[in-house]
Amino acid sequence: MAVERIKCLIIGSGPAGYTAAIYASRADLKPVVYTGMEPGGQLTTTTEVDNFPGYPEGIDGPTMMVQLQQQAERFGTEVRIGMITNVEFSSEEGGIHKATVDNTTEIEAESVIISTGATARYLGLPSEQRLRGGGVSACAVCDGFFYKNQRVAIVGGGDTAAEEATYLANICEHVTMLVRKDEMRASKAMQHRVNSRKNITVLYNTEVEEVIGEQVVEGLKMINNQTKETSQIEITGLFIAIGHKPNTDIFKGQLEMDDTGYIITEAKSTKTGKPGVFASGDVQDKEYRQAITAAGTGCMAALDAERYLASIEEKVEA
Ligand code: FAD
Ligand code: NAP
Repeated sequence: MAVERIKCLIIGSGPAGYTAAIYASRADLKPVVYTGMEPGGQLTTTTEVDNFPGYPEGIDGPTMMVQLQQQAERFGTEVRIGMITNVEFSSEEGGIHKATVDNTTEIEAESVIISTGATARYLGLPSEQRLRGGGVSACAVCDGFFYKNQRVAIVGGGDTAAEEATYLANICEHVTMLVRKDEMRASKAMQHRVNSRKNITVLYNTEVEEVIGEQVVEGLKMINNQTKETSQIEITGLFIAIGHKPNTDIFKGQLEMDDTGYIITEAKSTKTGKPGVFASGDVQDKEYRQAITAAGTGCMAALDAERYLASIEEKVEA
């Protein structure tokens, strides 16, 4: 059977992938999107999205992602359910990139846009998993607003936890920060910011034993991992800030990545080291990690792909 050849393969169906698809289909690149295991991406795991421009009343995450898909399909994007399980990127200008879908079907693409996102790490406690969306969140910038003037806690001792604790301290009445070691991993400057806030209490050597609450978060049972003493606090929101894992395992050895697995792109573009392969969204951004920034780089990736394909065509014609 002949292997299918397409102009533009988009891997991932979050805000980056669908925005890339809207632009690529309008530029007649006839993109094919593979959705992966989470069609619609991370926003399908949340309720209210209040900070995406264009929705004055806010919108729930799953609805927003269905609308983005419909917008991409309106211009001819083909959306397919499936995981890309292997890739072989060409290093040649104008080379053909190969991808395997669900370990079975081979596909060839003249350009590839990677939008596979990142996955927030959670503690893995049953009570934490049960209350995701009911007061447990992995994104303070996204959900902090819902806890205005309330008491919350944050887990983690890195730069993200320190930055988010400070962000929450501006909105919430009080923030308890749980650090599992006797010191923070965060930079001294970030630690200073945390320590200078009167409404942040840092508890070192402290871990979450259980999140209390049936439908919504009501409190936290904690344990001091040195003394084994347990204690309880009342909170309405729990923020987990213990790192993210970019979904880049299948690209290892093919693309340049930083030491935590984020794809490195050329400054002010979405170009990777392989001609015709572009990366957009959280998979190449550990700094901002927002739907609007993911969508912005999705747009950039489609424009970069369009220009790349046009330049190859010009060379062939010449
Ligand atoms: P993602 O949304 O992570 O999508 C990645 C896509 O890639 C998925 O469709 C997945 O199935 C697919 N994929 C992965 N691997 C493969 C593969 N091998 N083959 C095919 N497909 C693959 N941001 C805001 O701006 N506002 C908010 O209110 C907000 N709330 C949030 C609430 C929660 C609980 C979380 C977790 C995040 C929130 N964010 C919010 C952050 C926002 O969701 C992300 O920044 C954004 O979704 C990133 O978009 P993306 O397209 O890069 O990747
Ligand atoms: P990180 O540096 O990997 O820190 C993760 C933190 O979570 C660590 O304190 C770790 O504890 C803790 N942790 C991990 N698993 C845990 C668990 N199961 N229970 C409790 N705690 C746990 O991740 P990050 O803070 O997201 O930062 C990622 C990268 O982005 C870093 O390079 C960071 O410098 C950068 N960043 C920079 C800025 C900035 O400069 N403004 C802002 C955000 C992020 P241990 O220390 O004990 O391992």
